[in-house]
Amino acid sequence: FTGRAYQRADTVVDVAGVPIGGPAFVVVAGPCAVENRAQMSDSAHGVALAGGAILRGGAYKPRTSPYSFQGLGRAGLRLLAEQREVTGLPIITEVLDVADLDDVLEVADILQVGTRNMSNATLLRAIGRSGRPVLLKRGMAATIEEWLLAAEYILSEGNPDVVLCERGIRTFEPATRFTLDLSAVAAVRRISHLPVIVDPSHAAGRTDLVRPLALAAAAVGADGVMIDVHPDAAGALCDAGQALHPKELAELTADLGRLLTAT
Ligand code: PEP
Repeated sequence: FTGRAYQRADTVVDVAGVPIGGPAFVVVAGPCAVENRAQMSDSAHGVALAGGAILRGGAYKPRTSPYSFQGLGRAGLRLLAEQREVTGLPIITEVLDVADLDDVLEVADILQVGTRNMSNATLLRAIGRSGRPVLLKRGMAATIEEWLLAAEYILSEGNPDVVLCERGIRTFEPATRFTLDLSAVAAVRRISHLPVIVDPSHAAGRTDLVRPLALAAAAVGADGVMIDVHPDAAGALCDAGQALHPKELAELTADLGRLLTAT
């Protein structure tokens, strides 16, 4: 179902009125993890002011170490729902486990499947049956074919609303946390009709590389970007040092606007 042979025209996924795919370029932004009301409120207002279209925030966090902050769970979902009420921004948040799916469905306008769960067939099938739009991150060691086959698990359950997200892959290069595979974006757009967005924050793991990588994503033909934003990036409980300040997000969206009008 993911191939251009099945469907020639680009898929446009409607996320509570925000189209992903087609002519529009979408900016999804927010903190890596939901931490507290003040942090969410500052972030959400910053995202809205910067022209972001969808608010992100992890309530369930799949951390590399079990001793790192694991997210606020349901309390985090409630804080996300509050910010949707206040700003009107649709919400994206990660679902880690089928057991949490019903709770997450109450809040998420689009579900996020993280890199560590890309090949969790049980979760993918359950999300497929839910019918909710989904952002499917590329597994950090997955080939493009494996990524698209993961998307097939969702589509084959009758859910056509899949957005792919390139977030960097494991290579031998330690200068960035992962290597952002922009060639995958160009390649996937040839192979598949599904929209593709890019997460430069989790790929680089470094604030200073987010802007150039986001601009490169737009130039290579991505349908949008997902950016970590935090009012106090250095003090973030999750992935400190990779988030932009809301003011830096506003500068980035202005730069993206100029680039996209020029091309
Ligand atoms: C995230 O976006 O919150 C996240 C954990 O990303 P990834 O699954 O790409 O590591």
